Amino acid sequence: MTETTQPDLPPFSALGLSPHVLGTIEKMGYETPSPIQAETIPHLVAGRDVVGLAQTGTGKTAAFALPALTHMAEDHAAGDLGPLPNTLVLAPTRELAIQVAEAFSSYSAQLEGISVLPIYGGAPYGPQLQGLRRGANVIVGTPGRVIDHMSKGSLDLSEVKHLILDEADEMLRMGFAEEVDKILAQTPDNKQVALFSATMPKAIRRISEDYLNDPVEVSVKAKTTTSANIRQRFVFIKHHAKPEALVRILETEPHDAAIVFVRTRSATEEVANKLTARGFRATAINGDIPQNLREKTVESLKDGRIDLLVATDVAARGLDVERISHVFNYDIPLDTESYVHRIGRTGRAGRSGEAILFVTPRERRMLRSIEKATRQPVEQMNLPTVADVNASRLDRFSERITQTLATEDLEDYRDLVTSYVAEHNTPAEDVAAALVAVVHDGRPLLLDEKAEDELARAAQNFDREDRTARDRGPRDGAARERAPRAKGAPAVAGPGNAMYKIAVGRQAGVAPGHIVGAIANEAGLSARQIGSIDIRPTHSLVELPETLTKDQWAALSKTRIGGELIRLERDSGPHGTFSGGRKSDAGKRRTGFDNDRPAKKGPKKPRWRDR
Ligand code: AMP
Repeated sequence: MTETTQPDLPPFSALGLSPHVLGTIEKMGYETPSPIQAETIPHLVAGRDVVGLAQTGTGKTAAFALPALTHMAEDHAAGDLGPLPNTLVLAPTRELAIQVAEAFSSYSAQLEGISVLPIYGGAPYGPQLQGLRRGANVIVGTPGRVIDHMSKGSLDLSEVKHLILDEADEMLRMGFAEEVDKILAQTPDNKQVALFSATMPKAIRRISEDYLNDPVEVSVKAKTTTSANIRQRFVFIKHHAKPEALVRILETEPHDAAIVFVRTRSATEEVANKLTARGFRATAINGDIPQNLREKTVESLKDGRIDLLVATDVAARGLDVERISHVFNYDIPLDTESYVHRIGRTGRAGRSGEAILFVTPRERRMLRSIEKATRQPVEQMNLPTVADVNASRLDRFSERITQTLATEDLEDYRDLVTSYVAEHNTPAEDVAAALVAVVHDGRPLLLDEKAEDELARAAQNFDREDRTARDRGPRDGAARERAPRAKGAPAVAGPGNAMYKIAVGRQAGVAPGHIVGAIANEAGLSARQIGSIDIRPTHSLVELPETLTKDQWAALSKTRIGGELIRLERDSGPHGTFSGGRKSDAGKRRTGFDNDRPAKKGPKKPRWRDR
């Protein structure tokens, strides 16, 4: 394992973890422990109870899993690891339970015979009972279902040595206080307890006082200053779509050099390879690459032989290169301090800089922490659309032609073209067009419009708040991706589709997201079936399937956006003012879009209450 560390963080090898566990995280490409890991792992390895103030995205799963696995490895070596559950993790939702179980399994990859079982509500008992009968060393469960299995006698927790409360505040918010108390009370007194929580309300303090034994409290404080000359933006994006999103931004955003920060050594290579394959001059640097080679790479970045550096935090520490105009947080950092360090690589020497952060659905909270710690809002940016990328490609292409015409001696080539034109009786434009195809070597110059939908799907249904995506229509940002058309250009539907007109437009404050949300929800269409959207002052044009069923027409005849009936009709163009359109008063009634579910009255029900 590389021993390079951040100045104040010890290497993983100094935390007391077992060699097998160290081997696994080395293989996973983790370079340094995150702050929460560095602070809690030694105490947990030493057997202390811990209260950790940490949220998802800080690396807390490894913080509690690695010490528990270290103890299990030791017990296993001593022949003391019995068949009954050794470690119980309580998590508020089935999603988190599955995630934590998966992480535990990955972290135990080099430990023979460790089995992990998630058990959660809302799923049939059969497979869980089978799993429990087979036996598991680690159980990750939602509190309700854990209690159920305990009372049925299918879960014997009498040998539990580690109990972890993950997202404890969330568990209490979801009404699991009683279950959590019961489980804590009905498990062996001498167990080690680790409690992780993003916040520390009184109820959590009470649990800690009642059930934890002289716990060490760990919270990772954030340092705060960011430079004012750095513009900070973020994009909501699903993990798999990050490469495409990065390429689109790089294609459309004027930049000089950039650093792309990723989390692991393997990711530096993967992302650099993807960028190189897309024609960018990119290189990976990580803690495994010897110092002298890293220095050479940085020199290449300085003198412009490469433009993009894909780096881990360790490798990019202290990097001072003036021409870095952009920092991409391709993987969100595990703590706010690294965020500040990372974005400080741009905006050097008084220049302005751009920091762009990719945020996946699970990482919304981290985004809020970053804003809180830096005391600066991070502004949401929309991903460039296919039309944006194509416009930028055409610009660059024209620019190359103009440059070549201005700087190259083309006499001989001109003669060649002239003689070809004469010999084959072919217009010069056709010859030029053929040469463009030759230059592009079979690759299309422009992006296909279909690419739009895929990326739009990966970016949509995100919300800055913690509401579920299903509670709302797609975001404006996503829908904006639906090919904006050049001003005045006719709206043309694709095959199988037709253009429709609706009676709400810009003056009513309508955004594409409202239209997609309302139409998709009311007519039961998928967002993919909704094509281009062109918002005009008093009406909008929407591309929908050519044939709509009677039911869909009926549903859409009642659909309102911003309080206005949309009055859907087939568009016959040309597109003047909507015949029946009247000046909307939607501005006064912007709330209550049809696609918004009405706010639930009465006591808030837990979202994932199991059982
Ligand atoms: P968590 O907060 O446990 O959900 O972890 C957030 C993400 O960070 C997960 O994808 C982990 O695989 C990853 N991760 C955790 N610790 C480290 C580390 N020390 N270095 C790199 N990645 C890590």
